[in-house]
Amino acid sequence: MAVQVSSLEVVKSAAKKFVDFVNNGPSPYHVVNECRKVLTLAGFKELKERDHWDVKPSDKYFVTRNQSTIIAFAVGGKYTPGNGFSIVGAHTDSPCLKVKPNSKKNSNGYQQVGVECYGGGIWATWFDRDLKLAGRVMIKRGDKLEHHLVHVNRPIMRVPHLAIHLQRDINDKFSPNKETHIAPILSTCVYEGLVNKSTTDEVSSSDTASEETACRSDSHQALLIKLLTEEISCEKQNILDFDLHLADTQPASLGGALEEFIFSPRLDNQVSCFCALQGLVQSLKGSSLATDPNIRVIALYDNEEVGSQSAQGAGSMLTEHILRRLSVGGNSTSFEEAIPKSFLLSADQAHAVHPNYSDKHEENHKPALHKGPVIKINSNQRYATTAVSSSVVRLIAEKSSVPIQEVCVRNDSPCGSTIGPILSAKLGLLTLDIGGPQLAMHSIREMCCSSIIHQQTQLFKNYFETLPSVLESVAGAD
Ligand SMILES: [Zn+2]
Repeated sequence: MAVQVSSLEVVKSAAKKFVDFVNNGPSPYHVVNECRKVLTLAGFKELKERDHWDVKPSDKYFVTRNQSTIIAFAVGGKYTPGNGFSIVGAHTDSPCLKVKPNSKKNSNGYQQVGVECYGGGIWATWFDRDLKLAGRVMIKRGDKLEHHLVHVNRPIMRVPHLAIHLQRDINDKFSPNKETHIAPILSTCVYEGLVNKSTTDEVSSSDTASEETACRSDSHQALLIKLLTEEISCEKQNILDFDLHLADTQPASLGGALEEFIFSPRLDNQVSCFCALQGLVQSLKGSSLATDPNIRVIALYDNEEVGSQSAQGAGSMLTEHILRRLSVGGNSTSFEEAIPKSFLLSADQAHAVHPNYSDKHEENHKPALHKGPVIKINSNQRYATTAVSSSVVRLIAEKSSVPIQEVCVRNDSPCGSTIGPILSAKLGLLTLDIGGPQLAMHSIREMCCSSIIHQQTQLFKNYFETLPSVLESVAGAD
C-alpha cells in the first residue's frame, strides 16, 4: 500500500520531528536526554533503581541506567501484578569513533586525537567529514562527582583522505587501516603556537619551543580539554573521565527531488527510538490506558552495536529486574504468569533493496522504501520472529492501515541480528523483529524514506492500545 496523498502533510510533519530528534542525539546520552524531555512533558516521573518504587495504575514512569539506556512505562488502569507487558525495544547507540582514554597523538606537527572504532561502522565514510564531539564528561566539584552532557556542535576535527596522486588505486580499493589511518586532526602545533604567542604576548624562541607548549604531556590534547572546560564551565583539573563520541556536523534533513527521503546520521537505530517514544506517548492521549490490563513499556538500550553485553545493554539483567519489580504485590509466580501475556516488538532498522546491488537481496524478499515496516525472519534465530508473533503484529498493522513487508536473507548472505533474540531467549517472551527499511546502514550518513516515521509510530501506538485484546484472541496458539 502506498502513502495516501491526503496523509502527505502528516508524513512530512512526523519526519521533520524525527529530523530534530536525531540532530539533538549525537550520542546515546543525548538520545536518552531527548527521551527524558519528551516523557517529562508527557507527565512521566523519573524513578531511580536504588529507591523503593510505589507504581500505581494509570501512572507513568521512566528509569535510566548509565544515562545511556532508558526504560519508560505507563501502567494500565486495570493492571494487577501477573498481567502482561507490551514492550517496544530498540537501541540508542550507533557505530562511531570514540575518543581513546589516552588520546593525545602528535605527528609531523599535527595535533591529533586517538580514536577507537565503536561497532561495525563503514569507516571509509568518516573520511573528509566535518566532525564534532558529543558525549558525557565526569567532573569533580568538591566531594561531588557530576555527570555533564557535552555537545561541541561545530566542525573541530577531520580525517582527511590521502590524495589520489599518492594512491592511484583508491577508486578500485580503499580499505583504511583502523588504527593508523583514521586518527582525526584537531589542529597544528604551528598555529596553536601562534595563538598562544598572540594571547600571552610571549615570544617563543623557536618552533620547537612552540611545539612544546602546544603538545603537553597530558593524556589528551590541551585544546580538546579546553573545548570541554568551556562547554561545562569548569577547570581542567575538575575533569576525571569522559565518554566522547565523534559525529558528523551535517544536520539530518529531508531530501530527494520530492523531499521523500531522510538523509541523516544514526537512522539505525534512532528511527526506532523515536517511533517507540512517540508511539507510547501518543497511545496515552486517548482513554485506552484506563482500561489497559498491561503495562506499556519502551526499552531503549545502549551497546547493541557491540553485542549488548554490558550493564546497560539488552543482554544484562536490567529488563528482568524492572519487570520483576513491576510484578511485585501479586503471588509468588506473578512474574512467571506475566511473561506469556507479554510481547516484545524488537525494533531495529532493516535493509531496503539497493537499486545498484539488488542481487544482494533474496528475490522474493526485497523491502522497498515507503512500503512500510519490515518484519525480519530468520530460521537460524538471528531474528526472534515466529509465526505467532508475526500474526499478532499483522493483525494490528491491518487494523492500523499500516503496510507491512518481510525480509529473509539469501542463504549465501551474512545476516545481522538485534536485541530481539537476546531478550526473547533470556525472558521467554513472544517476540517480533521489525524495522524501517533504509539504505547505507552503518555509514556516517544513511538514508531512509520519510513515510516510515509516521507508519511505524502509528503501528507502535496501535500496538500499545490493542495488544492485550489481540493476544487474548491468539491465546492457545502460543
Ligand atoms: Zn541497529
